[in-house]
Amino acid sequence: MDSIRKFQCRSLVIASHNEGKIIEIRDLFTNLVSEIFSAKELGLVEPEETGKTFKENAELKALLASRAANLPAIADDSGLEVYALNGDPGIFSARWAGSPRDFNRAMEKVEKELAGSTDRRAAFVCALSLSWPDGHIETFEGRIEGEICWPPRGSKGFGYDPIFLASGMNQTFAEIEPQEKHAISHRAEAFRKMLSGCFSGNG
Ligand code: IMP
Repeated sequence: MDSIRKFQCRSLVIASHNEGKIIEIRDLFTNLVSEIFSAKELGLVEPEETGKTFKENAELKALLASRAANLPAIADDSGLEVYALNGDPGIFSARWAGSPRDFNRAMEKVEKELAGSTDRRAAFVCALSLSWPDGHIETFEGRIEGEICWPPRGSKGFGYDPIFLASGMNQTFAEIEPQEKHAISHRAEAFRKMLSGCFSGNG
C-alpha cells in the first residue's frame, strides 16, 4: 500500500469560492503553511460539481485548482444529510439554496420537507482533499451527528448552521463561537485526519 504523501511546500491554494469555508479552512491551516491563497483570489474558475459523492467532488475541485495554480490545493466538499429525507440535501446542499444563494430558503425547504416526521436526525459530512499538481490526491472524511431544530437560531457560522444542533448540545452551530465549532465540526474531524496524515512533523 502507498504511504500518505506529506505536504512540504510553502504555499497552499484553498479551492473554494465560498467565503464561509475559506475563512474556516484558512483558520485551520494558518500555522502550518507560509502562504495561503483562495481560488477566488487567484481568479480560478469554479468547476461544476459532477461527482456522486462528497469525496468525488472534493477531489475534482482540489485537482482542478492545483493544476491551474501549479501549487498544492485543498478542497472541501461538505453538506447536511437529513436522515428522514434519505440523506438530502447531501451533495446538493449548496444548490438547495438556489442562485443567488439564500440559506433561509434552503433551511425552510428542509423544515417543510421534514413536516410530519418525528425523526429529526441529521449529520454534517465533510470530505477534505489535498491535491498536488502531478495529480496525486489524499482525501480524509469527517462527520458530526445531530438533529434539525426549528426555527433557526444564531447568526454566526454559515449555511445550515442555524438549524443544526450537534448531539448533546443545546446551542446551534450558529450560536456557538467559531473556535468551539472548529473544535468539533465535521470539517475539524477531516482536518485532524489530514493533519496527522500529511502535516505531521511540519507544524
Ligand atoms: P459545497 O461543498 O461547496 O458544495 O457546499 C456545501 C454546502 O453545505 C454549503 O454551502 C453549506 O450549505 C453546507 N455546509 C457545509 N458545511 C457546513 C457547515 O459547517 N455549516 C453549515 N452548512 C454547511
